[in-house]
Amino acid sequence: MAIREGCWDCPTCGSVALPGRQVNCTGCGNPRPQGTRFYLPEDAPEVSDAVRLAQARGGADWVCEHCGASARAVDARCPGCGAERGSSAVQATHEYGMDDVPRSGEPTRPRMAASTAAPPRPKRRWKGPAFVLALLGAFGWCNSPKEVTATVAEADWQRAIEVQEYRTVREEDWSLPSGARQLSSERAIRDYRQVLDHYETRTRQVSEKVQVGTRSFTCGQRDMGNGYFEDITCTEPEYETRSHTEEYQEPIYRREPVYGTKYSYELERWLPDDTAWARGGAEKEPAWPAVRIGKNEREGARVEKYVLRFRDEDGKTYEREVPMSQFSRYRPGQQVRLKMRRGGGGEVEIVEPES
Ligand SMILES: [Zn+2]
Ligand SMILES: [Zn+2]
Repeated sequence: MAIREGCWDCPTCGSVALPGRQVNCTGCGNPRPQGTRFYLPEDAPEVSDAVRLAQARGGADWVCEHCGASARAVDARCPGCGAERGSSAVQATHEYGMDDVPRSGEPTRPRMAASTAAPPRPKRRWKGPAFVLALLGAFGWCNSPKEVTATVAEADWQRAIEVQEYRTVREEDWSLPSGARQLSSERAIRDYRQVLDHYETRTRQVSEKVQVGTRSFTCGQRDMGNGYFEDITCTEPEYETRSHTEEYQEPIYRREPVYGTKYSYELERWLPDDTAWARGGAEKEPAWPAVRIGKNEREGARVEKYVLRFRDEDGKTYEREVPMSQFSRYRPGQQVRLKMRRGGGGEVEIVEPES
């Protein structure tokens, strides 16, 4: 485990980057005080000298409780006043993760003098919705509905009634509906199902993660409390992906027909026979067409459609299918406001006056 020498800054005279092993400041000569913060520059070289290594491994330094001098772990007496170590405090040791290792001296606190301080930066203010709307106005808003004034040009309506006839039909099905008269029946393939036939032995490649060993790496630094730092080593498993061939049983299926009885029969059903239409414009009130019901006939479904066509000041035309209730409120020549959606295929909506 590699050992490197760190640095410290003198709090008395402000000298920086003093070699970690120095127990006195080389600037002012004062002892390195209790609680000194050691740091390890990124490029600190590994210590190889045997004497220094022994010094590093000797233990944390201590600070004389009588005179404040800094002493090494091997010193039995204070190098300053000669007193015995007694209950003198020891420099603290720390363990750091790689990302937390102190790499430089702590920045000196800014002085109180404000004359050189930069003026406070104006805060960026939220400019409010009006500003955003102005921006949108400048660049356009893709889907904003556009309104135009137009005149009702035409009003068309259509109404239809289906006429159904009760007729005999011939059909086939897998069951006989009630009231049907059977003509014939036969056995026929109705469906297919998958049936397990057999298994086939096949091979496939299978891969798995196998631990092949462990890897050691430096995961942190230990501040030894005497100016030196030591690597903290962690280990993690190392894996390898290995693949091999394995045999397996693949199920093989076959398609098997499912038989059923198919009936051929005759039956009476109501079927569309004719459609009666009524059409008109604004001059005629919408009405249902007259229907002539013959023998074995009845009225079927009813459909109705009401369309208004508009023309704007530029001569552009628009069309809108509306319900009967809305249709009856508009006459040709009447002015309306139309709202249209861009990208909506020219679809318009009538802006109804508020009542
Ligand atoms: Zn100093
Ligand atoms: Zn002392």
